[in-house]
Amino acid sequence: MLGDGILKGMAETARNFFGSFVSAERLTTVEYPEQRIPTAESARVFPFLVYDSKSPGDGADWLAGMRCVACQICEKECPPKCIYIEKSPDKKPDYVGKQQFYPARFDIDVSVCMSCQICVEVCPFEAIKMDTQFELATEDRFGGLLYDRKELSRSNEYYHSIHPTEATEVDARLAEEKAKLEAKAKAAAEAAAAKAAAAANPAPTSGGGS
Ligand code: SF4
Ligand code: SF4
Repeated sequence: MLGDGILKGMAETARNFFGSFVSAERLTTVEYPEQRIPTAESARVFPFLVYDSKSPGDGADWLAGMRCVACQICEKECPPKCIYIEKSPDKKPDYVGKQQFYPARFDIDVSVCMSCQICVEVCPFEAIKMDTQFELATEDRFGGLLYDRKELSRSNEYYHSIHPTEATEVDARLAEEKAKLEAKAKAAAEAAAAKAAAAANPAPTSGGGS
C-alpha cells in the first residue's frame, strides 16, 4: 500500500515517544548538565600531552615527566597546522633516562583542531593522546582556546582514567621497550667489563722455544 512505510515509521516514533514516559530504556536523552552519560572510552575531543609522574597524583613534575621530545612530527603532520612547537636548547632525561630535547613551547590552537587524532597516530613516543573533556566554552575566542604546554599536560594516571584499555597497552609497550634497552645496556656494560679485565690480565703467551 502506498504510504505504508511512512505509517510504520510514524507508529514507531509514537511508540518511542509515549513509551519514554513509562520506560527508562526508551529515554534516549538526559537532563544535561544535571545528569550526565558516562563518556565512552573511545571518545576523543582535543589532544593532551602525557607526563609520567613520580608518584600517583603528583602534578608538580609535569615538565620533568613530559614524554614529548619535541621531534615535531605531529606539528608537520597536523592537517590544519594548529600545533606550534619550539625545541628546547638543552636536554632532559626521558622515561628510560636518555637525554632528550623537550618542547620549550608546545601550543595547540583548539579552535582550529579538527580532532582527527593524526598527531596521536604519528607520535613515536606515546606522548600525545586524545582527551575526552568537551566543556571548553570560553568568551575568549583566540587566547582562551590556544593551550600552552602546561595547560595541555595531563598525568599518565589521568590517561588511564579516560582510556584505561589503551593506556594499559601503552604502558606494557613502554615497559617492554625499557626492559629491552636495559638488557642491551647491561650486555654492553658486561662486554666492556670483560674487555677491560682481559686487557688488565693478558693471557700468558705460550713459549715458542724448543
Ligand atoms: S587532532 Fe588533528 S587537527 Fe588536532 S592537533 Fe592533532 S593532528 Fe592537528
Ligand atoms: S608529541 Fe610526539 S610527535 Fe609531537 S613533538 Fe612530541 S614526541 Fe614528537
